[in-house]
Order: sequence, then C-alpha cells, then structure tokens
Amino acid sequence: MHNANITDAKNRGSIVIFDEGASLSQISAVVGELRFTPIDGFSDLPFEDDAFQPHLAIVNDGVKHAMARWQETARHLPTIKITDDNAFGARLQAARQGVAGIVHAPLSSDELTSWVRHFSTLQHARQSHVLIVDDDFMTQEVSAQALRQADMTVTVVESAQQAFSFLQADSVDAVLLDLQMPDVDGIEFARIIRQDQENLSLPIIFLSGERDPNRQLQARRLGGDDFILKPVSPSRLCEVVEMRLQRAGALKSLIERDSLTGLLNHGRFHAQLENEIERSHRTKAKVSVALIDLDHFKSVNDTYGHQVGDRVIRSLATLLSTSLRKTDLIGRLGGEEFGVILLDTDAEAAAQVIDRLRETFEETEFDVEQGAFSVSFSAGISDFGAGMAAADLVRLADSALYQAKARGRGRTVTDATDWSTAHLKATA
Ligand code: GH3
Ligand code: MG
Ligand code: MG
Repeated sequence: MHNANITDAKNRGSIVIFDEGASLSQISAVVGELRFTPIDGFSDLPFEDDAFQPHLAIVNDGVKHAMARWQETARHLPTIKITDDNAFGARLQAARQGVAGIVHAPLSSDELTSWVRHFSTLQHARQSHVLIVDDDFMTQEVSAQALRQADMTVTVVESAQQAFSFLQADSVDAVLLDLQMPDVDGIEFARIIRQDQENLSLPIIFLSGERDPNRQLQARRLGGDDFILKPVSPSRLCEVVEMRLQRAGALKSLIERDSLTGLLNHGRFHAQLENEIERSHRTKAKVSVALIDLDHFKSVNDTYGHQVGDRVIRSLATLLSTSLRKTDLIGRLGGEEFGVILLDTDAEAAAQVIDRLRETFEETEFDVEQGAFSVSFSAGISDFGAGMAAADLVRLADSALYQAKARGRGRTVTDATDWSTAHLKATA
C-alpha cells in the first residue's frame, strides 16, 4: 500500500506518514479508509517534485529522525505529531515546529481520524457569504472590495429593511453592520436579527465612527460580536471578519453536525430539505433525495466490535463528502443511515451517482486483526415533483430503500412510481 502510485496520489489527495512498523500500518489503514493515499515519508516521498503537495503530514515523534526528515522537505503543510510527551516544553517545541495537532501515543485510530477529517473539511470549506448593511456608498464599496479580495461572497444593501428581506430568503455567514443609519439604527437591527433562533450564533460586526464607549458597549451587549472603528484598513477588516467566521463556523458545526462523521445531523438535514423543497417550488429546480443504509451492519458490530463499526460509518461519510458536489447536502440520519440531497438532479441521475459510490464503497477493504472485510449498502432514491412536500420525498425514498433491501441489498432503487398514485396510496 505504501508504494503508492504518485499520479494517483495527486488525484485523490495524499497524506505523508513518517513512522514505522505496526504504527505505520495502523495509520496507513486509517488514511486509506478515509480515502487518502498513504505515502511513506521515509521511502516514497518524491522530494524533488515540487508540484507534489500532500494534504497533511503525520509524524511519529517516537521514531528517530522522523520530524527532522519531514522538516528537511520544507513543505509547510498541516502537521500532526504523535507523541506521548505532554509536558509544556514538548508542546512548546511542537508549536515552534509548526505542528497543528497532537495525537497521543499509544495511537488511537479515532483521534487520528478526527484530525484527518478536521483538516480535510477545512480545505473543502465553501466560500463565506457576508452581508454588508451600510447607507454610505463609499464605506460599502471599500468594505465589499476588501472582503471580495479575501475570497468571500459579498452582498451589499443600504437599509435594515432591505437586509431583513434578504435574510428572510437567503442565509449568510456574517453581517457587517453600520451603527448609524437613518430610520432603523444598527443596534435595533441587530436585535431584530437575533430574534430568529437560527441567527443566534450569526456573527454581527459593527462598523462605525461611533466614539462613545458606552454606545459601543451597548452595541455589543445588544447582539454585536465585534465593534470596528472607522476608518479601518482593508486588511484589518478582513482579519476581524475571518476570525469571526472561523469561530462561528466551529460553533455552528458543534450544533449542527454529527460528532462521529461531521455530517449534518438529523434535524439540520430535514431543515435543509425543507428549504430546498421551498426553493424548488419557486424555481422549479430539480432536487433528489437518496437514503442510504448499510447492509447487515449489526453483524459487522457483532463480528468485529463497535469501534470497527464506527470506522465503517466514518469511511462511508468521508466517501460521500469527498465525492459528491459541494452543493449537495449530506446528513447522518441515524445509526447507520445516511441521507443526501442532490440539487439540480433528477432521480435517474442521482441513482447513477449514488450507485457508482455504492460500487466504490463495496470495494473498500477494512483491515482488522481477523483479516480484511468489506461492507455494502442499499439506497433508495426519489425526486421532487409538482405539489410534493419534503416529507413526501423522504417517504418515497424510504420505500425505495425498503425495496432495495427486500430485493437482496447492495443495490440502488429509484422510486419510479407515479407521484399521483403514490400520493393516493399514502393517503389511503
Ligand atoms: P439491514 O441490512 O436490514 O439494514 O441490517 P442491519 O443489521 O444493518 O440493520 P439493523 O437496523 O438491524 O441494525 C443496525 C445496526 O447498526 C444496529 C446497531 O448496533 C448499529 N449501529 C447503529 N448506530 C451505530 C453506531 O453509531 N456505531 C456502530 N458501530 N454501530 C451502530
Ligand atoms: Mg442497516
Ligand atoms: Mg438501519
């Protein structure tokens, strides 16, 4: 496995490992299950090829020269260090070496998996969307340009009214708010934003010439996260906004995501589906739902243990999130059941995509003490039709999934039933 083909590694994303023996095998297995190519840093790393950019490095501090060899390559990538030294001095040394994460020896596959996932989702992060509310044209322009240059999507509106309408229809990742506006001022508007539960953790940053410390404090107390005094340099503005986005993102992910897989949790998945169906009613855009359930998973747990079962669940989660489009929404709906919302896709196209993933997943081998094994899944698919509600799509996909199980598992079934007859059956 370590003699990875480098061209292949470039395509799939690779992780360099500086380790040896059983620990190297264990890490390689985890990395492989997460669908990265493991590269043995001591023998396979193509030092001379500058274009070769692995995703991450995992370095075992207990192996002689490991960290030194990695540093010689002068690749500044996220690095995870495996160490049993938890003293302050060791941690400081790691910080100075630029180490981003520590995994404690003896190695836990779970801990390592969480880190690998952390760094791979960081790289998959989509563009952040910032709403600027300011009645002053010059400030709007300067702020918008600065944030756009920092690779953010920016929407500019001139009043609280307009901002309110915008937030009703779209969601953003942060709001940059002028304190002094005619009609409704920034503080009042921040309170309006916070009245919606889903906006409780939305970062609100005030940008204002207000020099009265009491007003500044009041702005913060009433819903603002930060207060930036005008004039502000574009780079400072970007720094503050980015910092807020990062914190809010981490918080949001704790609230909305399943901790084992990092996928949307049941509640968020269904809320997102409602949003998408509402949108489809307006725009007539296609949307499909796939429900995926691992086959005979109880026997995987019974044979190999619950921890190995968890590895299988994570591996499927990673396959879904790295293979599907960024706009597709993926959730873990229950124990070993997953849901995918595929946008602008009808059931037939969705079935093709999901079935290809099904084949890939079946080919994934899980290495355990008892040998290697693989797992299959069944999938049921439905798509949006006129007059349907989110619950209808889920019900149709669920009955398709039931058929996939009944027909022998390891297959993808599309609900081909005419919607009107399905509706009659459901209400009968
Ligand atoms: P089928 O092919 O009909 O889906 O069979 P199955 O065994 O997969 O289905 P069943 O619903 O009988 O069992 C699901 C099993 O999934 C039971 C439970 O122990 C396991 N499971 C649920 N959540 C988790 C989890 O978070 N981790 C692990 N390891 N196992 C889980
Ligand atoms: Mg199952
Ligand atoms: Mg199940």
